[in-house]
Amino acid sequence: MARSKEPSFRESVDLMFNRAVALMDLPPGLEEKIRVCNATYTVRFGVRLRGQIQTFTGYRSVHSEHMEPVKGGIRFSLGVNQDEVEALAALMTYKCALVEAPFGGSKGGLCVDPREYDAHEMEQITRRFAYELIKRDLIHPSQNVPAPDMGTGEREMAWIADQYARMNTTDINARACVTGKPLNAGGISGRVEATGRGVQYALREFFRDARDMQKAGVTGSLDGKRVVVQGLGNVGYHAAKFLAQEDGAKIIGIIEHDGALFDENGLDVDAVRHWIVGHGGVAGYPKAAHHADGSAVLEADCDILIPAALEGVIHMENAPRIKAPLIIEAANGPITAGADDILRAKGTVIIPDMYANAGGVTVSYFEWVKNLSHIRFGRMQRRQEEARHQLIVDELERLSKHLGDQWSMTPDFKQKYLRGADELELVRSGLDDTMRIAYQAMRDVWHGRDDVEDLRTAAYLVSIDKVAKSYQAKGL
Ligand code: NAD
Repeated sequence: MARSKEPSFRESVDLMFNRAVALMDLPPGLEEKIRVCNATYTVRFGVRLRGQIQTFTGYRSVHSEHMEPVKGGIRFSLGVNQDEVEALAALMTYKCALVEAPFGGSKGGLCVDPREYDAHEMEQITRRFAYELIKRDLIHPSQNVPAPDMGTGEREMAWIADQYARMNTTDINARACVTGKPLNAGGISGRVEATGRGVQYALREFFRDARDMQKAGVTGSLDGKRVVVQGLGNVGYHAAKFLAQEDGAKIIGIIEHDGALFDENGLDVDAVRHWIVGHGGVAGYPKAAHHADGSAVLEADCDILIPAALEGVIHMENAPRIKAPLIIEAANGPITAGADDILRAKGTVIIPDMYANAGGVTVSYFEWVKNLSHIRFGRMQRRQEEARHQLIVDELERLSKHLGDQWSMTPDFKQKYLRGADELELVRSGLDDTMRIAYQAMRDVWHGRDDVEDLRTAAYLVSIDKVAKSYQAKGL
């Protein structure tokens, strides 16, 4: 059977890396140095829960320290294992390089099903895991800065930040030890939505270039495009919501862990999310057809497929049946290397994970900078910006009066123009800029080199080149 030849997640990342470095001219040995994971720390610890000691296994993997701190999320899932954490850490290295976030790559994971424990129990487990990592500098503002990933969010990041502060009472930069914190615990506006927002900005950039659309055989704009999304968690929900509400896309399929919802006329993303939060899944949602075999909906006829849940969901067995001409990898590693070959041969355009979901680490970078500078973005210049705009508006109104009031500004324009940017607007602007510039770097390689036929190889070429230059500049 074809799936027995399926490469593992880490093998897939290595295969894709190898495909790219074969097209590069790296000094001997540097390729291997960049590819390998520097270190993985495994910890087993006990927590007394429900009257007995339960033992948990966790990992923190550091892929590359060409820049420090290293950065990467912490995942809570029963499927976590060393291979997965190392693959995810490698992707972080390439992702940070691609979007020019000044970090090396890292990732962490804990084998736990968060749905099995209440909030108090999860706090005990999270704090104990954080304690184990903090005491080895595997959580540290200048060494290793985690963030949320599957199964973790603002709540866990706040516990981790507090645990670090308790253990480092004189560290003035303690809050910068982790990103993705709630706003009232040192977080930044727009971090929760950032990865999904980045997916939206990535798709907007794709639709700005006729050559890209031609490669996928799509036309027009995002307006009216039929979208299937897998995983309506943090990333999938925000991506689907923004694409539907702001760009006119139609979310026709939502795949969750307990099946899929499908409606050719478009699903109400907020209503489905609300249902999932209340009922633990999509089953029973009254306003759309439910398919028990959710993964079959990956093969539905649609314009854009957004896998935003797990790795390896598109594999050699189902890849030939995937109909979407455009796939954007909101999740990490959703397409195996074997499936990638099949899809490329079919002409499917894949916007690769290392770029597509880089919105999270980009805004995490902004949060880290905010924590280190101890000041909210926009605090110094917002009112000054408003005052300067007011000067122009006053002058234009004076001139208009002078000319006999022949024209006037609409109140809506005036209000928008006069308002100085707040932190959220600045974060979105910085994210949009980052996503555009990184895409353009990939696009230049994609269209500019005859030996590069896909965006993933282009992404690897751009990022490996940056990592290599960093190693060459400072030595190993
Ligand atoms: P999340 O835990 O918030 O959401 C994951 C969703 O997938 C949940 O709704 C879950 O029910 C669903 N799911 C689980 N198993 C499924 C299955 N078999 N089929 C369909 N759906 C399933 O996680 P997230 O933070 O949204 O992360 C999703 C992906 O995005 C992961 O690959 C993660 O590494 C990647 N990512 C996340 C961030 C971030 O900022 N959160 C950043 C970069 C990349």
